[in-house]
Amino acid sequence: MPGPVFAAPYHLDPVAGPQPDRPGYGRPDNPTRVALEAAIGELEGGECVTFASGMAAIAAVFQVCGRGGVVVPSDGYFAGRALADQLLPNVRYEPTAGPVPAYAGVSLVLLESPANPGLDLCDVPAHSAAAHAAGALVAVDNTTATPLGQRPLDLGADMSVASGTKALAGHSDVLIGYVATRDAELADKLRSWRALGGAIPGPFEAWLVHRSMGTLDLRLARQSANAAAVAEVLAAHPAVSRVRWPGRASDPAYDLARRQLRRVPGVVTFTLADKAAVDRFLTASTLIAAATSFGGLHTTADRREQWGDDVPPGLVRLSCGIEDEADLVADIEAALKAV
Ligand SMILES: *Cc1c(COP(=O)(O)O)cnc(C)c1O
Repeated sequence: MPGPVFAAPYHLDPVAGPQPDRPGYGRPDNPTRVALEAAIGELEGGECVTFASGMAAIAAVFQVCGRGGVVVPSDGYFAGRALADQLLPNVRYEPTAGPVPAYAGVSLVLLESPANPGLDLCDVPAHSAAAHAAGALVAVDNTTATPLGQRPLDLGADMSVASGTKALAGHSDVLIGYVATRDAELADKLRSWRALGGAIPGPFEAWLVHRSMGTLDLRLARQSANAAAVAEVLAAHPAVSRVRWPGRASDPAYDLARRQLRRVPGVVTFTLADKAAVDRFLTASTLIAAATSFGGLHTTADRREQWGDDVPPGLVRLSCGIEDEADLVADIEAALKAV
């Protein structure tokens, strides 16, 4: 349970001064944040360090582990690629669904499985073994799956890094990020980077996320069931050229999803003819909000090309919410008729 929101920047006995194991100043120490880190850490199976956003968490991983060169997914979250290009001296791109590449000469491999927005998966144990043999650390972006959908540390990764902004918090009302690891030295380095760099989550944001985690499994279950129904409707419709949902038996990522995911995320990616077709789809729907971000209570759709992703203009990332399944399916069928 989240407990109270400790909002003050200090929790210090002014007479005794700094005490070991007692919270001091709010940037290195905050009890509300520590409670959230204990909760996420339990689910990931490691020590958790939270950050102000998912990008702040990825930036910390790049700063602490990426100076010797990184491999990042060519089809992963666009801001991660942009940050690597801006920050790091040696960046290489590899596709998530490609074969395990050579990892010699890099210090960090960032995987994203499922990858956003294309929903390819990669074999995390195989990539981790190859990276470790080359002396590199492995981080898996666990944003889309959440720690109840996938445990990257159990699959051989050194770090699970995520945006909790999406399904983990799940109410589209907060930004947060975290890194989880079983390597105590690495956790110390990440905490030290955070204390100096300053990208801490606010106490109320930490509390909101912790409060939301009590319903995480219920939300994932409904989102996943809705996605299963919606993916079938989309796949059967002539206006839709391609559907990706790793829970469908015909999906290229299905076998990996069965091995690595406890819950298949509620995100379905599909392709209509062009931007005008997506506009007609969104205008005709009464339940789907056009919005970026994903993983919330409400079904949202995002046309990813508008953000600069290298995808067709008619590609839609649909994030299924927790609406009644029959209502959602009926709404999508009507919207597809308008397309
Ligand atoms: C949203 C997202 C991020 C960045 O998270 P923020 O909380 O928006 O900073 C990183 N990785 C993936 C896969 C994401 O979807």
